[in-house]
Amino acid sequence: MKLLSVIVPCFNEQENISDFYTELMKTNSFFFKRDVSIELLFINDGSTDETAARVKELIKKDRRVHIVTFSRNFGKEAAIFAGLQHARGDYCVIMDCDLQDPPSLLPEMFTAIVEEGYDSAATRRVDRKGEPPIRSFFARQFYKVINKISSADIVDGARDYRMMTRQFVDAILSMQEYNRFSKGIFGWVGFSTKWIEFENVERRKGETKWSFWKLVLYAIDGIIAFSEAPLAIASFLGLFFCFVAFAFIIFTIIRKKVFGDPTSGWPSLVCIMLLIAGLQLFFIGVVGQYLSKTYLEVKRRPIYIVKEEK
Ligand code: UDP
Ligand code: MG
Repeated sequence: MKLLSVIVPCFNEQENISDFYTELMKTNSFFFKRDVSIELLFINDGSTDETAARVKELIKKDRRVHIVTFSRNFGKEAAIFAGLQHARGDYCVIMDCDLQDPPSLLPEMFTAIVEEGYDSAATRRVDRKGEPPIRSFFARQFYKVINKISSADIVDGARDYRMMTRQFVDAILSMQEYNRFSKGIFGWVGFSTKWIEFENVERRKGETKWSFWKLVLYAIDGIIAFSEAPLAIASFLGLFFCFVAFAFIIFTIIRKKVFGDPTSGWPSLVCIMLLIAGLQLFFIGVVGQYLSKTYLEVKRRPIYIVKEEK
């Protein structure tokens, strides 16, 4: 008998726990027929509401349900990592608690892995229905940029909803980095992935945990974690300005010799100085970003801390 681990990161999802359980269990018969048992792992990412209590109600009813509670909110990436570490399954799947990842896709994902021989089955939403247009716009731009500057394949609209073989999971666990950007990590490890598309489903209950600002910071994290291009751009721009400056020096010397007027043109000088000073500060900031990430990696802090496990 094979085991499928369903990993569910949840942060203040009290309204969704029991709906999620009910919906998930509708796929039970499919897996039962194929001699696969399910283990359900809720990763309680420092919720301050009744999430833990709701899960414990389920644990009383159903022995296949487990909970890992963090000592505080460590973020979804940490929850995914903890889930994969705690999962014992031959297959693992990561799902959101708000039913934006439809459990009805599970049979198709499972078939892709077991019958079609893929190492993972991932999902992407083809539209962004119900999302603020400005957020969709910036999200699209982000995927365009990061795919140009990163060697890891990062798919637009990809969700973290993904089923994986044990081998795939072990590859992900072998990446011990502190700044975890799963969308990049999944692409980076390679293997074969089947993409299953579906139309966006809106969150069942409760609020999204992602503000626009949090998404911007997440995007920056993603770029820093999976591309060195910003550093290269800094070097190229520096070199470019050296050439420009050199040409300008020659131009000024010639002008002095021919027209004898070394003082005119100071407003343009101020503009150039401001531009270059601005660029310098900007790229010191970029270097600082990499340095701060490196600093955090070097400290080797744990990715999450567990308070309770059941
Ligand atoms: N989540 C989490 N920790 C966080 C933020 C979110 O575990 O710090 C969980 C959340 O409970 C949900 C999933 O990650 O199950 C996706 O979050 P959300 O629905 O808020 O994101 P969206 O679908 O809007 O991108
Ligand atoms: Mg959601």
